[in-house]
Amino acid sequence: MLLEGKSVFGGIAIGRLSVYHKKENQVKRSKISDPAAETARFTEAKEKAKEQLSALYEKALKEVGETGAMIFEVHQMMLDDLDYIESITNMIETQQVNAEFAVAATGDNFSAMFAAMEDDYMRERAADVKDISNRVISILHGEEQGGLSNGEPVILLAEDLAPSETVLLDKSKVLSFVTRFGSTNSHTAILARTMNIPALIGVDFPNDADMAFGIVDGYAGKLIINPDETVLAEYRVRQEEEENKKRLLQELKGKENITLDGKKINLYANIGGVADVANVLANDAGGIGLFRSEFLYLESEDYPTEEAQFTAYKTVVENMAGKKVIIRTLDIGADKQVSYFNMEKEENPAMGYRAIRICLDRTDIFKTQLRAIYRASYYGTISIMFPMIISTSEVKKIKELIAEVKAELDSEGIPYKNCEIGIMIETPAAVMISDLLAEEVDFFSIGTNDLTQYTLALDRQNPKLDGIYDAHHEAVLRMLQMVVDNGHKGGCWVGICGELGADISLTETFLKMGFDELSVSPSMILKVREAIRNSRVS
Ligand code: PEP
Ligand code: MG
Repeated sequence: MLLEGKSVFGGIAIGRLSVYHKKENQVKRSKISDPAAETARFTEAKEKAKEQLSALYEKALKEVGETGAMIFEVHQMMLDDLDYIESITNMIETQQVNAEFAVAATGDNFSAMFAAMEDDYMRERAADVKDISNRVISILHGEEQGGLSNGEPVILLAEDLAPSETVLLDKSKVLSFVTRFGSTNSHTAILARTMNIPALIGVDFPNDADMAFGIVDGYAGKLIINPDETVLAEYRVRQEEEENKKRLLQELKGKENITLDGKKINLYANIGGVADVANVLANDAGGIGLFRSEFLYLESEDYPTEEAQFTAYKTVVENMAGKKVIIRTLDIGADKQVSYFNMEKEENPAMGYRAIRICLDRTDIFKTQLRAIYRASYYGTISIMFPMIISTSEVKKIKELIAEVKAELDSEGIPYKNCEIGIMIETPAAVMISDLLAEEVDFFSIGTNDLTQYTLALDRQNPKLDGIYDAHHEAVLRMLQMVVDNGHKGGCWVGICGELGADISLTETFLKMGFDELSVSPSMILKVREAIRNSRVS
């Protein structure tokens, strides 16, 4: 069976398909005849859930540190709560119902009880009780965790994946992403590019495709289910050729980012978290041009503490061993929703309460992040940049807060270094006043993903618009030139960290425009280096 979709990252993947199920379980009530056996089933499932949580704790500890991981420890403790257990076993015994139903009913009751409490912390536990109950129900249903725990790497099929779901996937078990919905500029698509795996969107796959064998052709935007021997053999050859090409690119490691006529440019990588640094180093990036720090918040069940953030930033800078790391401060809102921020539903979230607007409003959260960044600055070379800027007054307010943070650190005797300060240019407003903004900061990094959506008035999340979302639109290209010119006049260096930076059909154009830096997903570093080395600017 051949299905067509739209490619968000090229490459060939061959393997078993796995349909990703959201953690919502349909539970039926049924009468049982042996309550003791049913109670034993529950106890066994509960223990298995604890094992899963303990594995998740270890994984999160490595990837995001103590605070982010803690929630999995809390969940293990909740599963051992005597009231919770008693409610389930009583229900099984007295009402002779199946374990799934008893767990679901208890989960609902406890969750409603927590939701009605005065205390904010306790109210938030409502979602946790639901979560642990769903985990036990999945196990009772015989479902593997997220469909991904059987050891074999798979091609993941999903309706859509929210960034918060994607971060929890075991990335070493995913050969490719295929989603029914989603758009090429969504953060899940960006993640697929970071992971260097083929990904398709808009594929109307059959629901019974689970465990079938398949091929993803990320170049042609095709998913082939149960291919015949000839097709399979053809793709195996192509996959082999791919590997060879990758090996050839490896020879560019250690080489300079220099054009045929001698112009050099910095080539940095975009990351979402500590776990991506290995990929940055493996691909020989000169630094990190965009650390999307909001992923630390998305991976967490509660506000990440200063200590947890400090550990994450310090780990990244230490691993980069003196190379530049540009941390972008919290950029949530729009498609990146974090439940504990309790944000109101908005008519136009992309133009709503997000990014720097939240940070300048909730300065406690912002200052916690700034403190963590400044503390980590002592261990390497950090630059800080701010998202969604539209005015010089925002930058002035940010600088006041930075001064307060530094004064606090001074009075506490905590060491830090002075960091380069930059902004993302991702609104048309910032482009138009880039001459004024250049006087306030050290560098500009252009977020072409948002800049394109705001300039063309095209929602980057809307798959219907993918066809007219023209990343090469003259309006955007003229803006890029304007930002470079204004930035340079004001003494700033200027780079691109949006997806367009990795578009090798434009590499030579960017060099001619005068860009000083390109920051791309780690998997694109060597391809862009090759394009730079084949370019001529004069
Ligand atoms: C951008 O908007 O181009 C960008 C780099 O930021 P994000 O994709 O995270 O919004
Ligand atoms: Mg952006």
